[in-house]
Amino acid sequence: MKVFTTIKDLKAALDTYRSAGESIGFVPTMGALHEGHLSLLRKCKEQNTISVVSIFVNPTQFNDKQDLTNYPRNFNKDCDLLIEEACDIVFAPEVTEMYPQEDTRQFDFGQMDQVMEGKHRPGHFNGVAQIVSKLFDAVEAHRAYFGQKDFQQLAIIRKLAELGKYSTEIIGCPIVREADGLAMSSRNMLLSAEHRNAAPRIYQTLQKAKQMVRSHAVSEITAMVKREVESCGLLRLEYFEIVQTDSLQTLSEITAEIPATACIAVFAGKVRLIDNLEFIPHKK
Ligand code: AMP
Repeated sequence: MKVFTTIKDLKAALDTYRSAGESIGFVPTMGALHEGHLSLLRKCKEQNTISVVSIFVNPTQFNDKQDLTNYPRNFNKDCDLLIEEACDIVFAPEVTEMYPQEDTRQFDFGQMDQVMEGKHRPGHFNGVAQIVSKLFDAVEAHRAYFGQKDFQQLAIIRKLAELGKYSTEIIGCPIVREADGLAMSSRNMLLSAEHRNAAPRIYQTLQKAKQMVRSHAVSEITAMVKREVESCGLLRLEYFEIVQTDSLQTLSEITAEIPATACIAVFAGKVRLIDNLEFIPHKK
């Protein structure tokens, strides 16, 4: 496995592979890798001959500086895991490499980034778009892999790829969960033992909400979610929204015709966790 820290060296290596007719798959991450990340890499390896994983904790997407400071970092362990998975290339730049000067670009995703994560984390998706566009330019991958765990991010990246006319195909991959249902996240390792015990309630509540879809109004489902999540005294609901799966428009009514996904953000102590569950699938 080759490790690059500069765009110039990365590009030179990838140019050689590209000229030799290899297909390049790309998995962007912020490190502290877990099975969720590795599932993206495995999919990437299935569909491409060269796999590139980036590890970069992107400062411009953190609206909360304390969150950036606390974000888990474990580069050596990450490399061990990637070697085991036979990853070909790791790109792990310093902040100054990706941002030699301040990035003042403002992306317009319309109302897509005005809801949920966009509403509660101002500037977050602009920062995501800044780094992902820089990484896409550096890697020029045939395909890039993103998790449905970050449901809104995936929708915004599809939009970014369309607006920026990137030839990289965006592939969404299913959420990988712990045995008790908690969605895997690098942030899970920051949970105290009691918050970790309480956290599976998030997914359990989403499942319970899904069962109510045919018989209850959205307002009733939302009230149940808040009650259930907060009843243990350890979790605090930040938002629960049922949105149209593609446009991310908030739905106040659910019908069998409109694909819908429920999204949730919860504070477990100081750790913010997100999850989502498809309520109404796309028609086949
Ligand atoms: P992160 O390092 O948290 O920025 O995540 C990097 C990529 O891994 C993103 O595309 C995430 O959506 C994806 N990812 C994170 N957790 C999971 C998970 N539990 N299952 C599937 N994909 C995930």
